[in-house]
Amino acid sequence: MSPDKYIKNYIDGALVPAISGEYLDNVNPAIGQVYSHIPASEASDVQRAYEAAERAFPEWSKAGVQKRFRILTRLADIIEQNLDAFAKAESIDSGKPFRNAQTIDIPRAHQNIRFFATAIMHFSSESHHMEGEAINFTLRQPIGVVGCISPWNLPLYLFTWKIAPALATGNCVVAKPSEVTPMTAYLLSKACIEAGLPPGVLNIVHGEGPKAGQAIIEHPKIKAISFTGGTNTGRKIAATAAPMFKKLSLELGGKNPNIIFADCDFDKMIVGTLKSSFSNNGQICLCGSRIYVERPIYDKFKEELVKRTKFLKVGDPFSSVTDLGAMVSRSHMEKVMSYVALAEVEGGKILCGGEQVEMKGEHEGGYYLRPAVIEGLPHDCRTNQEEIFGPVVTIMPFDTEEEVLKYANGTDYGLSATLWTKDITKANRIAESIQAGIVWVNCWLLRDLRTPFGGVKSSGVGREGGLEALRFFTEAKNVCFKY
Ligand code: NDP
Repeated sequence: MSPDKYIKNYIDGALVPAISGEYLDNVNPAIGQVYSHIPASEASDVQRAYEAAERAFPEWSKAGVQKRFRILTRLADIIEQNLDAFAKAESIDSGKPFRNAQTIDIPRAHQNIRFFATAIMHFSSESHHMEGEAINFTLRQPIGVVGCISPWNLPLYLFTWKIAPALATGNCVVAKPSEVTPMTAYLLSKACIEAGLPPGVLNIVHGEGPKAGQAIIEHPKIKAISFTGGTNTGRKIAATAAPMFKKLSLELGGKNPNIIFADCDFDKMIVGTLKSSFSNNGQICLCGSRIYVERPIYDKFKEELVKRTKFLKVGDPFSSVTDLGAMVSRSHMEKVMSYVALAEVEGGKILCGGEQVEMKGEHEGGYYLRPAVIEGLPHDCRTNQEEIFGPVVTIMPFDTEEEVLKYANGTDYGLSATLWTKDITKANRIAESIQAGIVWVNCWLLRDLRTPFGGVKSSGVGREGGLEALRFFTEAKNVCFKY
């Protein structure tokens, strides 16, 4: 399973270039150099992918769960057998440490596929009995051809999280990974061929969001869209797709609060907080970027967080001692640095980090940032309201539960929240009142794939995960039989 210099689209079971023959550059962010090229696909490529998917649909949708289970399980096995090749490709494409790709991203990708392959074997629908008169039963049928679009931060992890339930429920898919991190989606194409996935069942079209992505959204016969990405892109997608009455699942940005009470287990909290602040360079929608600390432990917390943050090793993604690799692109690194500058203008004090790391040798041109901790900002300033999506956290003291709830809920976002306390009653009280789709108490990013996943407010519409995803990718039809 090897990456190639020229990535191809995967359409109708074959690896093909874009119809235009044009390519886009693909950059390795660890060295800041172009290392491969991706097809610059357009609406005509999406149309070709749609036609292949439409042809494949009748057979795939009627193939039965056993057959779909077998093929998807084979696909999961192939990814697992090629774990290191996938992890290496993911690390080169995204700048994340190889170790993270090897232990988090790629294992989760094959788990996603296996999870939904198995789930479909146990998926059932309801029946409603009208005593003495009739029985209703609900058919759950695949929608047809659906679109899946995913971002660059967890490339194969999120791509498979969408594709797997769509395929398991009998849909055919036109999918687009981020143009910034296309390589593992390309390797997935090769794995699909090896697994014997029938041609046209899954089609992967590479290219820019506003062209290839938009063409998927605009396609009149692609009836459902599962999208993960930024809130502004989600807004554009909704504006196009909603008037066409498409089914929409939008997993968007976050500005998640991490609320730390004085009665927490400090040692566990500080380890968890370092992770929720800087994992994947803070480029996870669930990272806790606004940290609220109960005043009695604020100074102790500040000292410990800054000490540990300074200790994090930023550098070569393939070094075993690296904690944070490269940022995904120059433009993203510059965006994050502009927020650090903004924080200073808004009156914040940079306690550590926020500056580019000067690397030597091969990595000289790479995009490396020191993780930043900032204090002294009001909760309603732009730094505390807008998603930065980088290794930048702000810390703020609070005195009462009421006050911290007001801060925590005081953004347009509502994806996740983390609480650290030993008081279960307080934790339950806050969990009930917090405006978020996911609340972690005394942990972060602990995921059970059966649970609903998604956000409220500007963080999205709909839920993924477990049965929610199987329901999203099926249409419910009630059949009523009179005695
Ligand atoms: P973007 O919204 O820029 O892109 C996401 C995907 O959409 C990419 O494949 C992109 O293509 C594509 N795209 C861009 N424009 C359009 C369009 N007009 N029509 C259709 N598709 C389009 O997000 P990022 O890739 O920058 O990812 C970061 C964002 O994703 C953050 O806001 C983060 O919070 C969010 N996110 C949310 C998660 C959640 O579960 N809620 C999980 C992970 C991330 P291309 O890249 O090729 O331009």
